[in-house]
Amino acid sequence: MSFSGEVKEELAAHIDSSRHCQIAELAAIFCYNGKVVRDNGGKLQLSIQAENEQVIRKSFTLLVKSFKIGTDMAEKAACFLRIRDERQVNKLLQALKLPQTWPEAEEGRSVVNPLLIKNACCRRAFLRGVYLTSGSMSDPEKSYHLEFVCAAKPQARQLQEIIRDFGIEARIIVRKNHFIVYMKEGAGIVDLLNVMGAHVSLMNLENLRIVKEMRNSINRRVNCETANITKTVNAASKQIEDILLIQKTQGLGSLPEKLREIAGARLDYPDATLGELGQYLDPPVGKSGVNHRLRKLNELAEELRGK
Ligand SMILES: [Zn+2]
Repeated sequence: MSFSGEVKEELAAHIDSSRHCQIAELAAIFCYNGKVVRDNGGKLQLSIQAENEQVIRKSFTLLVKSFKIGTDMAEKAACFLRIRDERQVNKLLQALKLPQTWPEAEEGRSVVNPLLIKNACCRRAFLRGVYLTSGSMSDPEKSYHLEFVCAAKPQARQLQEIIRDFGIEARIIVRKNHFIVYMKEGAGIVDLLNVMGAHVSLMNLENLRIVKEMRNSINRRVNCETANITKTVNAASKQIEDILLIQKTQGLGSLPEKLREIAGARLDYPDATLGELGQYLDPPVGKSGVNHRLRKLNELAEELRGK
């Protein structure tokens, strides 16, 4: 199962004990995946159509718990749920604060009534419902991306505001007539999983992040060391070039003793770092001393090249 699927599985199994939270989550599911229809006799029905069966499973559990709606009043399939009992439908619409014409009523279309999500606990439940119906996230081994697909702009705005209420930054983009609320940062995604109560997924994600970070820091260090070695080698080959030029033109014997000494050491130890090179001198010289003498040799070589 994908990571995103695991999150949904965990959220589907999370059943709130408070009725206010159950109703908030049901309201989110209905607003994102449900609609009011009329049967041939003109009676009201409420249906939910979902891409995954977790939504149907969870909706049914919540309906049983908070409204005592049983199989005698509802039809259920893997991706479909319909409540046939008109009395129950009206009761439900009233509790969810939705009009009978919903979602055709233009005003406040597909937005959960703010009165249902006043409490923080209910806002968490709302986010669970929205993730179940419209959320998904990328494989965290590859990248960090979590998104919700919203049908309308007010819906996306409401969702963004509720996520921000928990101190998590989320952005909105438009994609193919849909409004996508998304986040791209590992820390924000971890926070959101925590808010929704997906604690097992959160632990799994944190473990992945630690492994990934360690791998990155090792790679960075290896790259850094390689860069330093390359730098040493490049500098050394330039120094050797200078020394060979001096040797060829005026001879190393013409150099003051300190310079002659460092020139000989460099030719003997072409791979040595400046610090190591200093240790080969008698008496040993520090890195900056070595650097100073090599610079003198370079100036001399440049002068010779100018001639
Ligand atoms: Zn609540």
